[in-house]
Amino acid sequence: MKIKVDNDLCIGCGACQAICPDVFEFDDEGMMQATDNDIDNENKDDVIDAIEGCPVSAIKEIDDEGMTQATDNDINKENKDDVIDDK
Ligand code: SF4
Repeated sequence: MKIKVDNDLCIGCGACQAICPDVFEFDDEGMMQATDNDIDNENKDDVIDAIEGCPVSAIKEIDDEGMTQATDNDINKENKDDVIDDK
């Protein structure tokens, strides 16, 4: 699992760092960074919680080419229309 923080979206609330301080920290410029982009199994559940808990969906799962991946492939009825609208 690979991730990145989209600092164009991030509002700096710190929630991800509170959930998973092993992976998320503010850099010297006050921007949230994923200190480890290649998440091991030890931190995976916490990182998923951070992704789901980010209020602005700024934490993205990426593939090997750096492309954003859907973190939830089991799209529920509530989100279905938004997913379709995004295509
Ligand atoms: S939870 Fe989201 S908005 Fe808050 S600091 Fe982390 S990446 Fe930024």
